[in-house]
Formats: sequence, structure tokens, C-alpha cells
Amino acid sequence: MILLGGPKAMGEDWVFFRGRLVPPDWPDQLRDSQLRTTCRPNGIEVPRVPYGDEAEDWGASDGPCPDCAAIQGELHARGCDVERCPACGGQLWFGCECEWPEGK
Ligand SMILES: [Zn+2]
Ligand SMILES: [Zn+2]
Repeated sequence: MILLGGPKAMGEDWVFFRGRLVPPDWPDQLRDSQLRTTCRPNGIEVPRVPYGDEAEDWGASDGPCPDCAAIQGELHARGCDVERCPACGGQLWFGCECEWPEGK
């Protein structure tokens, strides 16, 4: 095992997933995220932006999302730094400019 004393020091048994260490429930969280294909910025339902469809190049053709380990064409896990807002292009979970009257 690599990263001895790293994630383990946080008190969780992290698991290898798509070539990296993630919390044990991460694969399930990522899978669950695929079931929620839309979001509602400003109260208007629109499709979420799958990994690889961002305006910026996050390397989707080279490997999984650097933050949530989604692969190209998959939706990001909840809270992923890379997921873009389909309405304004900002970070969906952090600092996007939209109103979210029904939550995210
Ligand atoms: Zn992601
Ligand atoms: Zn937005």
C-alpha cells in the first residue's frame, strides 16, 4: 500500500478506486450521482454537465476527474470542485452565481 499514514491517519479505511485512494463509500456516492441527471439553477431544470463537457479541459480524455474520479461522460459526485453550473459556468457546488431556490 502507498500513502501509509496519509488517509489512514484520518481514521478511515480508504479504498483504491480508479487508481486512487477514496473514502470507502465514494464509489456508491458516485454511482448515486448518475441517477440525478438534472439540477435547478434559478429554479429552472437543466441537465447537469458531465465530466468532459466543461468549457475548460480537465483531462477527461486522459483519466478520471481529478476531484471525484468520474470518468468521461459520467456525472460528477456531489460536491465535486470540477462540476460546472450549466447556467452560469461557475463551480456548481462552490461560488456559482445562480440562485438555488430548491437547493442543489
Ligand atoms: Zn468530478
Ligand atoms: Zn450557476
